[in-house]
Amino acid sequence: MVARPAEDAPVDAGPTGGPVDAALEQVIERIRAGDTAGIVASYIPELAGADPEHFGVSAISALGHVYRAGDADVEFTIQSISKPFVYALALEEIGIEAVRARVGVEPSGEPFNAISFDAAGRPVNPMINLGAITTTSLIPADSADERFGRIRSALSAFAGRALQLDEAAYLSEASTGDRNVALAGLAKANGALIGEVEDAVDPYFRQCSLKVTAADLAAMGATLASGGINPLTGEQVISAETARRTLSVMASCGMYDLSGQWILDVGMPAKSGVGGGIVAVTPGSFGIGVFSPPLDDAGNSARGTAVLKELVAEFGLHLFDRPVTPVSPIETIREHDGNVVVYLRGELDFLAAERIAFEIAESVSWETESLVLDLGSVTRVEPVAARLLRVLGARARAHGRDLTIVDERRLLGD
Ligand code: GLN
Repeated sequence: MVARPAEDAPVDAGPTGGPVDAALEQVIERIRAGDTAGIVASYIPELAGADPEHFGVSAISALGHVYRAGDADVEFTIQSISKPFVYALALEEIGIEAVRARVGVEPSGEPFNAISFDAAGRPVNPMINLGAITTTSLIPADSADERFGRIRSALSAFAGRALQLDEAAYLSEASTGDRNVALAGLAKANGALIGEVEDAVDPYFRQCSLKVTAADLAAMGATLASGGINPLTGEQVISAETARRTLSVMASCGMYDLSGQWILDVGMPAKSGVGGGIVAVTPGSFGIGVFSPPLDDAGNSARGTAVLKELVAEFGLHLFDRPVTPVSPIETIREHDGNVVVYLRGELDFLAAERIAFEIAESVSWETESLVLDLGSVTRVEPVAARLLRVLGARARAHGRDLTIVDERRLLGD
């Protein structure tokens, strides 16, 4: 495969040449100068011919700002990185219970192409080939073509542009894919895979052969980071619930038999592919795409892994190292016609609601003042925060105090 820049890569919406681009550039240079080893996948000529020097990284924030460095717009085949996104599609199409009945969610601790069934006969998770091919079989369709068509449009919506098939890679995958055909046969024999082996394996080979760039992977990751909304196109690609479930499975099973070590060192749900790509996500903040073809022993991009370790340290992205004191949900407190108006802002979660309750208790004297909570600048209210705010209102009223909540967009629900 001759890698070439994508013609319709996502539009750069962020400040190029800014501090984030510069930081990415520096990380790439540092790792390029180091001695990260790795071997380019060679089971098909289209991968064996990849340029080992290609090296790109892109990050897209939940606000839709795009950052890129190195070969971030060079195309390569997505390979196993398609798996979490097809899993998300299956969850949307047939629901968590129907998917869970046929594919488990436990890490296998085994290589990606192992025969890993659980006691119930299900592939242990959807990130290994066995589970991924089974998951592909769950996408409702009347033919292999239709199934692939649905997968391609879903993955394109995640990327924010129409992804194209690398025909040569697909034909090679299909002609050398005996092990995948065998895995599919076993999954069918166990009652996990739906329909004919061919109708699952063929779209699976094609989903693996879709061409993406590091910037596409960043957009796909950013969509998972943003509750299923692609921050570049604004499209709600999947529900927030499906995004959360997909990230959970990526966190426990995404990096094959190194998944435990990965979540310890890197702390981001991630998925790698033998084409040299990795997608990694900091929920609520960032999607990151990395591309460098040489792979380590576990089949993960060696330089890609190194980049992500550095970025996590430099940008503070580790999942289990989140800020304890996020920005205050209280924008300002003002007096208006004898009322104290508390202007709230941003996303209200448990911590925000707790903070609102405490700050009101500290700064408002109930005897003399009536209180208004204004949700005008609030973007989202989590159910727990809505419940706490309603309780706050009810208790104030029970004590004969006057608390009004201004919620014109009905973020609190009914
Ligand atoms: N197409 C490859 C396969 O199914 C994908 C494997 C991978 O990226 N780990 O074997």
